[in-house]
Amino acid sequence: MTAALPHRRARALKPGSRRPAKDLCSECGLCDTSYVHYVKEACAFLNQQFEPLEQQVHGRSRDLENPDELYFGVHQSMTAAQKREPIEGAQWTGIVSALACRMLEQGWVEGVVCVQNSPSDRFQPMPVIARTTDEILAARVNKPTLSPNLNILDLIEQSGLKRLLVIGVGCQIQALRAVQDKLGLDKLYVLGTPCVDNVSRAGLQKFLETTSRSPETVVHYEFMQDFRIHFKHEDGSIEMVPFFGLKTKELKDVFAPSCLSCFDYTNGLADLVVGYMGAPFGWQWLVVRNEIGQEMFDLIQDDLRLQPVQSSGDRRAAVQNSIPAYEQGVQLPMWAAKLMGLVIERIGPKGLEYARFSIDSHFTRNALYVRRNYPEKAETHIPEFAKRIVSQYQLPPIEEK
Ligand code: FAD
Ligand code: SF4
Repeated sequence: MTAALPHRRARALKPGSRRPAKDLCSECGLCDTSYVHYVKEACAFLNQQFEPLEQQVHGRSRDLENPDELYFGVHQSMTAAQKREPIEGAQWTGIVSALACRMLEQGWVEGVVCVQNSPSDRFQPMPVIARTTDEILAARVNKPTLSPNLNILDLIEQSGLKRLLVIGVGCQIQALRAVQDKLGLDKLYVLGTPCVDNVSRAGLQKFLETTSRSPETVVHYEFMQDFRIHFKHEDGSIEMVPFFGLKTKELKDVFAPSCLSCFDYTNGLADLVVGYMGAPFGWQWLVVRNEIGQEMFDLIQDDLRLQPVQSSGDRRAAVQNSIPAYEQGVQLPMWAAKLMGLVIERIGPKGLEYARFSIDSHFTRNALYVRRNYPEKAETHIPEFAKRIVSQYQLPPIEEK
């Protein structure tokens, strides 16, 4: 790491007060700390800055002429993996939690920034600096809500930690990278997950109530590679709802404005990313971005079953057709949605092509959202890689306000 720079403090903003990014704030937590001093440069929604941060973290920015880097960011390798012995209650097989535990046990780090849930609400995020493996395991499984992971930044300095692992999603990691040299650390590791379509706690409630047969018993859910949402309930049962049967009209305003204007789906500034969408159904998808990410991968490798990433099908027609369907809030009857889900599962995009399908669908939607709602920001906020991805599709004209 580069030499620590002195940290210039400012008074943390009061809870609930308006944030500098206003409606676009993703509640990443930076403004809850004295590091709010750096918000203008660090906030992912006030100052999108992939290129310089990629240079800083990976030593180069993504190669836009390389189709895989255009989509998935700077990387050295991608692999599909499963933990041989999955962690009970993890989101997938628990690779994230297991790696964090291993790094702590072996003394690579003294603490791990992760997010547990509040004692009264399984979906209310509660960021912590975990100092034991039990505390890391208590943070397993997604809290599918905006989470102020960086609200612990002042605690890092106060606790005297020098070697730290941070687990987080793109907007949190962008802000972290912008201030990391001021944290007084000797070593920082960043383990990222992809992230998309996140919601406030109230938005989550609306999503569950609109979509699940039993919202109060949902333990976790995921938008799966088989084009269905899988809701896991308290009794262990799995409820599946086809994407194409979603009540699009009712759900249009459920996603947070930050997530409707985000282009960091694959967490381009982490050292190692662990998701699922580029892997076959039931497997996780690991993207090693740099040497530090490779060291982390090597540490957990023996615990994993591995296979090369694959890609098949062609996403483009499905993405193009989804654009007007989303715009008009089309909702298919459930029988038609199930049928379409079955057909597309059989012949549709798989592996990396499924990941591209998801990236294309979200980037086209988000580019439209930014161009309509923040026209003055669109040019600088939408990064070049996203502009290239979006330019493959025909978008409806932006109506004058
Ligand atoms: P676990 O071992 O269960 O650990 C999960 C870790 O996630 C914990 O350490 C916890 O600290 C952290 N975490 C939980 N909630 C949050 C949060 N709100 N903010 C920051 N960190 C959090 N992958 C894809 O491939 N495609 C997607 O579209 C996608 N969407 C996602 C949306 C959200 C909101 C989140 C949080 C993750 C998403 N992921 C996505 C990642 C994926 O769902 C899994 O989290 C990842 O594969 C790790 O699984 P695991 O079993 O190894 O994690
Ligand atoms: Fe502050 Fe983070 Fe919100 Fe930006 S996204 S205004 S840095 S809390």
